[in-house]
Amino acid sequence: MEERYHPESVEPKWQEYWNKNQLFKVETDPSKEKYYLLEMFPYPSGKIHIGHVRNYTIGDVVVRYKRMKGFNVIHPMGWDAFGMPAENAAIDNNTHPAAWTYDNISAMREQLKKMGFSYDWDREIATCRPEYYRWEQWLFLKMLEKGMAYRKESYVNWCEKCQTVLANEQVEQDKCWRCSQVVQQKKLWQWFFKITDYAEDLLVYCDKLPGWPEKVTRMQQNWIGRSVGSALKFQIDGKDEDIEVFTTRPDTVFGATFMCLAPEHPLVESLSKETDQEKEVIEFVKKVSSQERSAEGIEKYEKEGVFTGAYCINPATKEKIPVFTANFVLMEYGTGAIMSVPAGDQRDFDFARKYDLEIRVVVQPEGEALDGKTMGDAFTGDGLMVNSGEFNGLDNKAAMETITDWLEKEGRGKKAISYRLRDWGVSRQRYWGTPIPVIHCPDCGVVGVPESDLPIKLPEDAALLEKGGSPLPTLDYFAKATCPKCNRVDAKRDTDTMDTFVESSWYYLRYCSPRYDKGMFKPEDVQYWAPVDQYIGGVEHAVLHLLYSRYFMRVLNTLGMIDFKEPFTRLLTQGMVCKETMTCPEHGYLYPEEAVNDDQGNLTCTRCSNDVELGRVIKMSKSKKNVVDPNELLEKYGADVTRLFSLFAAPPERDLEWSEDGVEGSHRFVNRVWRLSIDCMEKIKDTTPYSGSASSLSSSEAKKLYIKANQTIKKVTDDIDKSFHFNTAISAVMELVNALYTFDLESEDDELRQVILFSLENILLLLSPILPHFCEELFERMGKKGSVLEQSWPEYRKDSLESDESLVVVQVNGKLRSKFSIGADSSEQFIKEAALSDKKIKNYIGDKSIRKVIVIRKKQTLVNIVI
Ligand SMILES: [Zn+2]
Ligand SMILES: [Zn+2]
Ligand SMILES: [Zn+2]
Repeated sequence: MEERYHPESVEPKWQEYWNKNQLFKVETDPSKEKYYLLEMFPYPSGKIHIGHVRNYTIGDVVVRYKRMKGFNVIHPMGWDAFGMPAENAAIDNNTHPAAWTYDNISAMREQLKKMGFSYDWDREIATCRPEYYRWEQWLFLKMLEKGMAYRKESYVNWCEKCQTVLANEQVEQDKCWRCSQVVQQKKLWQWFFKITDYAEDLLVYCDKLPGWPEKVTRMQQNWIGRSVGSALKFQIDGKDEDIEVFTTRPDTVFGATFMCLAPEHPLVESLSKETDQEKEVIEFVKKVSSQERSAEGIEKYEKEGVFTGAYCINPATKEKIPVFTANFVLMEYGTGAIMSVPAGDQRDFDFARKYDLEIRVVVQPEGEALDGKTMGDAFTGDGLMVNSGEFNGLDNKAAMETITDWLEKEGRGKKAISYRLRDWGVSRQRYWGTPIPVIHCPDCGVVGVPESDLPIKLPEDAALLEKGGSPLPTLDYFAKATCPKCNRVDAKRDTDTMDTFVESSWYYLRYCSPRYDKGMFKPEDVQYWAPVDQYIGGVEHAVLHLLYSRYFMRVLNTLGMIDFKEPFTRLLTQGMVCKETMTCPEHGYLYPEEAVNDDQGNLTCTRCSNDVELGRVIKMSKSKKNVVDPNELLEKYGADVTRLFSLFAAPPERDLEWSEDGVEGSHRFVNRVWRLSIDCMEKIKDTTPYSGSASSLSSSEAKKLYIKANQTIKKVTDDIDKSFHFNTAISAVMELVNALYTFDLESEDDELRQVILFSLENILLLLSPILPHFCEELFERMGKKGSVLEQSWPEYRKDSLESDESLVVVQVNGKLRSKFSIGADSSEQFIKEAALSDKKIKNYIGDKSIRKVIVIRKKQTLVNIVI
């Protein structure tokens, strides 16, 4: 008898079996109910990390469960393969990004296979392959045609280290999301996707995603940032041009004594041109461009500004007011222009005092007179209108609408809604990405390449530039082009590539028909498989990938290519994998193997023998050295124990704290089930698993076990199906295993042996999504044919979930004195008599007289005897 589970032989055996029998391959089959489960695809960095293991294990368990439930389940895997790390690694290692990427993909594919994940590898995609990005270029051309993609010169977020532009979503607290360099503002020609066309729809549907975590939809709502107010026009003095502002306080327009533009505002340059202020303005704009430009970032700098040399006309007072550019105004908010009302806004107030600008009170508290010359702070509260012409004396809140209506009649304003969301800038000045399929012609301007020329292939023989810039503009054979419209031969190809988030915005549709060569996807396949039923990934994508994907589905919907708008019906954002950190006073963060216990049991540094300090439990990261390599776990414990631990340690949405003890515990449990199963196979022969109802069993022991087994099936099914709480599901199975360990398998009667067999077979079925290799092996040893995957998920008997015995609790004068079990259908009179004749109760009562006996029947029965 084998005492232990041997993953090193069992796991490869079953991986080969699954592969040979193509058990994970699926086809479109409208006669079956489909289920699409997807984990966010990885960047091919070369190694899977523990976060991947957790994410993919969660998905794999659900996939295997749904399959046993009879669904036609699609579970694909691929590679988010474009992006900068490939370029950087290529420069560092003197290789090519393509070679580096494809090598990494091979290595990671092998690691994933070793984990036993049930991917349909026939559907594998890599976004850096021309067969994939060809269709992204095709969509770009469609978007160009419909005005959904456009080009403009504007200030954009620039990362000097990465030598590229970043989308707003990729700037985190003023820093590059990838390298943490502080982001600058740079003026460039850029391609944009008009995501703002869908701002309202994206926002409204945030409330129609019941399968999404609320924190994610709330982050998207905040990011889209809708506010209601008025759009007002201030005419530029001496010009037939307006400065548009958005304000939530139209009631204060009479108090707008100057205008402030963001330094990135397109008018700043033109207004100051050829004025005395021109030089000063240029210097100021340059200075601000290297400051942090976000709502939090601007707070770090002193509020300052420069007069542009121009004036505009306040539409309410018709007075000339000066136009400034100021560092606290952001292009991100409203229109990038602010009508400054110093009496009603503290920041404007400080600015006005600093530059000696007029402060005119327009709202003041009832019964109090404020004076702009002497007041110490702005008054931001509600009150009555003053210095506001015909609106004087009105309540300021009522005046908001009245003033907007009045300005609308004057042609100077209207009610408006403003969003924080900005169009998605998708041009990247990098090499390793999808080429933008347009040509710039001196005569025709921007011309999309003809569809028949697609894909515009990325030259894979380009030598990368040392500084990290793109070599594409220097490659004549790529950059020089003939205009498709007028045939001019000196036209130029766009040498920017697309943001890698474009690839990940639609890859889940490509999986439905990954080799289709007549379009982005085969309509029948997407019709059947999409949308994704369950998506699993990290919360860090809340406003990046998850918002872009929702946008892309709206684009395809508008183009008539799909009939839905939301890509992911349910979303699970799994928690992080955390571990304690260790530091040495001399060597900083240490790897686990760099700290050992010395003779006295103190943890010391292996390099200097200093005492090691245990730090906080935080997310695993290479820089903190608190990492565990999944390969080492695989080597030591095998895939199934690794899978079990990553599910058992915490529910999926919570952070998981890694512990060696926890892994050891999982290892012990697996072997406990192994021994139990082998023992059963040897000792319980010539009998069949019990299949009747609990009430037909004669012994109370068999009854109890049978009920427990049925309860376990129900608990595990509910935990997986309703909440993905695999940890409590596993606990329930552990309890049943413990219960089985109390029997002496050889000497029990046949009825009990039948129930034990029933319990064991179901334990293996219930554990099979979690421990797939292990359960296949035992299932086979028990003489079953085929794969566990082809079995149906266990059903519990509704009539065998509860014992037909009910507990009776007996109190005497409110104090618990005895307990016993009784048939659930006993009459009240029978229970009373049983309570009074109970030995313990008889002792308590003695010869005292009984005044009252109360019987309360709920799930258990309470008898209260009053003496
Ligand atoms: Zn960067
Ligand atoms: Zn042309
Ligand atoms: Zn040290």
